[in-house]
Amino acid sequence: MRLLWAVRMDWPAGDHEFCCPSADPEAAEKELAGVARYWARGPMRPRLSVVRISERDLNLHTRARKGCRAPDCPLP
Ligand SMILES: [Zn+2]
Repeated sequence: MRLLWAVRMDWPAGDHEFCCPSADPEAAEKELAGVARYWARGPMRPRLSVVRISERDLNLHTRARKGCRAPDCPLP
């Protein structure tokens, strides 16, 4: 199982998404900064964190788990 680093976005409504997969935590922190700049312009501000996530879990969230609220998903 391949493990990656990704940016976790927690939305005010309680759901979360993962984006910007990276191979190492330094790259993931840079991605987080870019995501923060992007969302800073809009009215919606997700809470951002860097998490360790399996490639499989990341793909699941991208394809089938829109609006995921499961409590056992990767946390920082
Ligand atoms: Zn989830």
